[in-house]
Amino acid sequence: MSTPTRITHLIGGQPWTGTAERTSPVFNPATGEQTGVLDLATTELVGEVVANGKAAWEGWAETSLAKRAHVLFAFRQLLDERKNEIGALITAEHGKVLSDAVGEVTRGLEVAEFACGIPHLMKGGFTENASTNVDVYSIRQPLGVVTVISPFNFPAMVPMWFIPIAIACGNAVVLKPSEKDPSAAIAIAALWKEAGLPDGIMNVVNGDKEAVDALLAHPDVKAVSFVGSTPIAQYVYETGTSNGKRVQALGGAKNHMLVLPDADLDLAADAAVNAGFGSAGERCMAISALVAVEPIADELISKIRDRMGKLVTGDGTQGPDMGPLVTAAHRDKVAGYVAAGVDEGATLVVDGRDQGFEGGDGGFFVGPTLFDNVSRGMSIYADEIFGPVLSVVRVDSYDEGLKMINANPYGNGTAIFTNDGGAARRFQREVEVGMVGVNVPIPVPVSYYSFGGWKNSLFGDTHAHGIEGVHFFTRGKVVTSRWLDPSHGGLNLGFPQNT
Ligand code: NAD
Repeated sequence: MSTPTRITHLIGGQPWTGTAERTSPVFNPATGEQTGVLDLATTELVGEVVANGKAAWEGWAETSLAKRAHVLFAFRQLLDERKNEIGALITAEHGKVLSDAVGEVTRGLEVAEFACGIPHLMKGGFTENASTNVDVYSIRQPLGVVTVISPFNFPAMVPMWFIPIAIACGNAVVLKPSEKDPSAAIAIAALWKEAGLPDGIMNVVNGDKEAVDALLAHPDVKAVSFVGSTPIAQYVYETGTSNGKRVQALGGAKNHMLVLPDADLDLAADAAVNAGFGSAGERCMAISALVAVEPIADELISKIRDRMGKLVTGDGTQGPDMGPLVTAAHRDKVAGYVAAGVDEGATLVVDGRDQGFEGGDGGFFVGPTLFDNVSRGMSIYADEIFGPVLSVVRVDSYDEGLKMINANPYGNGTAIFTNDGGAARRFQREVEVGMVGVNVPIPVPVSYYSFGGWKNSLFGDTHAHGIEGVHFFTRGKVVTSRWLDPSHGGLNLGFPQNT
């Protein structure tokens, strides 16, 4: 067993050289081996980083849009060149298979590409002669130091939903990645210096609740982009906003896939398997509840079971379909839900707990698991399991399925599978969920649209990336101007009216 590598903060473009008071272990989930020891930031260190960021910010906010865009283009190029290395770091700490890891870097890269257009995105409006000889125009200005607090499941993509846009808009960033798999985000953060970003604009502090609380309390942190589980998202939203900050806090999910009787069942079975078990179900857009409108459930389940029989679970570096779960504790939690589902009376069609796993002795594995006859009162339906467990709920009609989806407290993503355009259009209008797929099981919006759910899946009113991201990381200002002309003189105490 090799000695765990030290993983530390990145402050002002440099790795931190101090000695940590507290650390946290990082594991390779495929082997169970501890590979890293992560420095955890104290409140004082967070304060130092924010102060550095604030000092650097003033110059960056003054930097022209053309120069900022140059840095964005250079960063995008570096990220593209290093995406395989970064993917390998993700697989080593998260466990997802390499192709999936590189795929998430690519989705993050797309946000950098969107942010390359910042000169266009920051354009305001201009109205000549709104009143006689009076012009009105709008501008957007950066906020200052902003923080991004990210979850374990997309260690590269989720930070990238926010950071390129925040930087392009002229802010300084303090990223607090997940303590479970921080290395990919730190490697990406280091690329900004290489791309020409001034030191102090992109910083990483590692930590747990202490670091998060310090960021939420610091008066010079102006905005918080958080992604994680619902209870923590709600806490971050309430604490951050009560401290006067702008907060967008994306929370957990329970995503339903509604399959109508007229759907192509082969396509639906492929989609259910891909979206249920990709990344071992550790995706906020994973499908965890398959709502089958009778009489198709038996046939659909048979097709899904056949496909599941071909899946290989194992060490993500070796090219299987599905990797391990992120930690031993999470594996035990997921296995606990499988046991609970059996106790609560669901039919266990495929049990992932006792499958063989390739090339990863000691790893945190649970294989693909399928339940039938799941009902709303069961914990496997009600809770976000965040593992490779797919539950089939049988319903008798579209209306019954829709009612169930809309009654769920989460509203992140959903999908309908049908060949009926009218039914799909009705679903898209009636479903109370932020991201909807029509014959697309994981409808993650492209970077120039915005990502975000409804209800308990998002606290705040601004979604991630796209133009909403530009608005989140800037403040609007409207200027009403009149250049001096002797004819404008004279006293008038009335409210300004347009003439
Ligand atoms: P998590 O809530 O445990 O952690 C998220 C972040 O919060 C981490 O940086 C962590 O260090 C920090 N944190 C943890 N406990 C804290 C506390 N008590 N106080 C302050 N900060 C704390 O989430 P996770 O397990 O890392 O990620 C999985 C969750 O994230 C799932 O619920 C998933 O649905 C959700 N998620 C949502 C989206 C989305 O877009 N809605 C995207 C990805 C993940």
